[in-house]
Amino acid sequence: MAPSHALRCCKRALNWIPVLFINLVVGWSYYAYVVELCVYTIPNNPERISYLVLFHIFFTMFIWSYWKTIWSKPESPSKAFCLPRAEKELFEREERAETQQEILKKVAKNLPVYTRTAGGAVRYCDHCQVIKPDRCHHCSTCEMCVLKMDHHCPWVNNCVGFSNYKYFVLFLTYAALYCVVICATVIQYFLKFWTKVLPDTHAKFHVLFLFFVAALFFVSVLSLLGYHLWLVGKNRTTIEAFRAPVFANGPDKNGFSLGFKRNAAEVFGDQGKYWMFPVSSNLGDGHSFVTRLVHIDPERANGILQQNGKSLADGKPDPCVHGNNIQHTADDSKENIEGGQKDSVKVENEQ
Ligand SMILES: [Zn+2]
Ligand SMILES: [Zn+2]
Repeated sequence: MAPSHALRCCKRALNWIPVLFINLVVGWSYYAYVVELCVYTIPNNPERISYLVLFHIFFTMFIWSYWKTIWSKPESPSKAFCLPRAEKELFEREERAETQQEILKKVAKNLPVYTRTAGGAVRYCDHCQVIKPDRCHHCSTCEMCVLKMDHHCPWVNNCVGFSNYKYFVLFLTYAALYCVVICATVIQYFLKFWTKVLPDTHAKFHVLFLFFVAALFFVSVLSLLGYHLWLVGKNRTTIEAFRAPVFANGPDKNGFSLGFKRNAAEVFGDQGKYWMFPVSSNLGDGHSFVTRLVHIDPERANGILQQNGKSLADGKPDPCVHGNNIQHTADDSKENIEGGQKDSVKVENEQ
């Protein structure tokens, strides 16, 4: 085995340590609650059964969303974002960065790509050899471009992005609720052991620690959950919160924000019945996103509109349809986004 390959395998194995740690803590909390608290400490059956039912509901939801966050593969850009063969050959042969940019611009014209680098260039990943869709970033840990990348999370050993962001937010929510359920039901026995109303048994150690650990985890998870709920409301990823996406008209941290209701629907879906379950219900395809302000070449806009059987004069499409260029170009300067936010779409020459 080559040393570099062995090193990579070692690194991959080490990446699972935080996940293993979480699993061990959760496994112990399950044992401490079910066996030490419910079986050995709680004196009557009605209380024991009601605690067990409540505990298992939140335990199941927590593990389910955690599992889905870990095992949802990050999505990479589709083949449409790779350079066509002729352009790729030209791009690889070309040494001047300006000419390479011209090639990228020509290809990007036919793609729903509206964000640029800080310097105004088309965002291109040399590693994956792909034009980066809006909100897509290259993850150096996963060694791939990840759609709507939020961050690489060591606690789930996975990239959090378009494919699993809903699961990640639910994981944080249920982790917090799991801790709340434990703290709220354990506290009376915690106090009884603490004040020595109950005798010293092996359950004492587990019950005392269970309360401390749950309270500690609750505080740390709550701040992260609060931050991500704020991001959902603003339709921002963690990366975008630190570095605003750059559009043709400059950086705009609210570039993807469409009003609270619509922003939440992008992550959780538009059917409330699926919101609380870690099942796929998010909107869009991860490649294109409705933007608040888009400057676009009128010729390109006309072409796209004609493809869709509309013209700039009469175009009034549904702004909520994702993965469709038309939403970015038509309905010039009219309020068209749910939530009452002004969606001013300017049509002018892109320099
Ligand atoms: Zn990449
Ligand atoms: Zn990653």
